[in-house]
Amino acid sequence: MIKATRLSKYYGSLTAVDNLSFQVGPGEVLGFLGPNGAGKSTTMRMIAGFLTPSGGTATVCGFDIQKDPIAAKSAIGYLPEGAPNYPEMSCGRFLDFIADVRQLKGNTRRARLDDVIDRLHLGPVMHQAIDTLSKGFKRRVGLAQAIIHDPQVLILDEPTDGLDPNQKFEVRELIHKMASDKIIVISTHILEEVHAVCSRAIIIANGKLLADDTPQALESRSRYHNAVSLRVGQGTDAESVRNILRSQQQIGRIEGEGDSITAFPKDGALLLPRITGLANEHNWQLDELHLESGRLDEVFRDITSAEPQV
Ligand code: ADP
Repeated sequence: MIKATRLSKYYGSLTAVDNLSFQVGPGEVLGFLGPNGAGKSTTMRMIAGFLTPSGGTATVCGFDIQKDPIAAKSAIGYLPEGAPNYPEMSCGRFLDFIADVRQLKGNTRRARLDDVIDRLHLGPVMHQAIDTLSKGFKRRVGLAQAIIHDPQVLILDEPTDGLDPNQKFEVRELIHKMASDKIIVISTHILEEVHAVCSRAIIIANGKLLADDTPQALESRSRYHNAVSLRVGQGTDAESVRNILRSQQQIGRIEGEGDSITAFPKDGALLLPRITGLANEHNWQLDELHLESGRLDEVFRDITSAEPQV
């Protein structure tokens, strides 16, 4: 369990993290969301024991990060933002060094090294200087050092930032595979990542916690939640579809341009069966018809833009 209680960090007159409290339990992948400068990295650095809080406390697996830092850090794997490593070391030498730092010995050491080299497909670059690796490989080396001691808690600061779509997919798969028996916190400003990997999301702006919920519950705050979007095909007049939709009592509002139409429900009405019925009745040709679950980007904007920017 990670427990943050009223964590704060001040840089002179700037409040980077403002009284943040939250908990994360086993099996949870917590997404830390917020605009740039929100305080995500600062919070993660404090939990990982790399930065001393100005106020508040954090415990990891029951160990206070300030009072019992070695025990707390041994339970944590941490991938700092940008995954900085020692650029002149070879990948193999670097992992050996981290295995030393983590005090891995004998068969366990060999098995853990083999495991991370295999999981992160580092075999072909073991003799290459980290400096000369591609961004994707550098990030994999960073992830390898974070998981080498098989920690119970993983703190990953923007693990997929700057990676290409295939590399992003690979890192997300890896997080998925590790999620069941670990506590994972990842920071991101990529909203699709929240869907792809997180079971819970915390939204922060200006260092303050603004929301703490499942991605689905956050989406349901969107005005798009339970709206129905359709794209009218050739042979059907979009304007007449709009007029018929407008005349429906359950529909509060129609939006969209040209062939694309979104119908918003009135008073939480369920629109999909009604619109499907209308499409059959009037023989509409539709290229697309789908129920909106809600748009996280809109919720994120609403929540974070309500905060005055500093
Ligand atoms: P995020 O990770 O959400 O982008 P950060 O935690 O990096 O945000 O930064 C939060 C705020 O603290 C920003 O305004 C940033 O400029 C400021 N900040 C971070 N580190 C320092 C530092 N070492 N000295 C002064 N200000 C800092």
